[in-house]
Amino acid sequence: MLLGPPGAGKGTQAQIIAGQLGVPAISTGDIFRANVSGKTELGLAAKSYMDAGDLVPDEVTVAMVKDRLAEADAKAGFLLDGFPRTIAQAEQLRSSLHDLGHALDRVLELVVDEDELVRRLSTRWVEVDGQRVQREDDKPETVRHRLQVYREQTAPLSGFYDSEGLLARIDAIGTVDEVTERALGALGQDGAEGSEQPGGPTGQPSAG
Ligand code: AMP
Repeated sequence: MLLGPPGAGKGTQAQIIAGQLGVPAISTGDIFRANVSGKTELGLAAKSYMDAGDLVPDEVTVAMVKDRLAEADAKAGFLLDGFPRTIAQAEQLRSSLHDLGHALDRVLELVVDEDELVRRLSTRWVEVDGQRVQREDDKPETVRHRLQVYREQTAPLSGFYDSEGLLARIDAIGTVDEVTERALGALGQDGAEGSEQPGGPTGQPSAG
């Protein structure tokens, strides 16, 4: 799974790394945004929290992830992006994975200082229906709130996973390629083309 504050590059790295590992990238933010666009019940439940830069309540998020992990393409492994974001979600995840006969192999924390995060988020544009727009939650006041939410509710996961021996911290400042290289290095995947096992990233992580 990828851990890191908003603007650290989790979404970008998740796509690339999951592609390299041959597993789906599962992004709770993307699933929520698709539901908001589709005006589903889940989207309606999530929208006000997302617009305010708050976390969607754990019950809603955990149930959604549980369903997603039970889908066929996740059987051989997956990369989580943006989940878990609270200790309660991490505990629920552990029990869901246990039920599915899985366990987390590795947690990569993307480390970026806050000035850089604010700079990146306030200049980030996304494409919606062919138009370049700013995400509602990338507005400066919402960004500041999201960073505070991260510090208070999500940052403790770093210690949680470190104490389980799963955490690798990656310097996420640099080009996309540089960060990918560091991430794959921490997964023991650097320069090891063709060494992935058919079942996904089930090999033991390297010690570093
Ligand atoms: P992201 O694209 O990961 O920055 O997520 C965008 C927004 O979706 C967040 O600010 C939250 O409102 C919501 N969200 C995404 N993942 C979670 C999660 N694991 N728990 C609660 N809310 C989430």
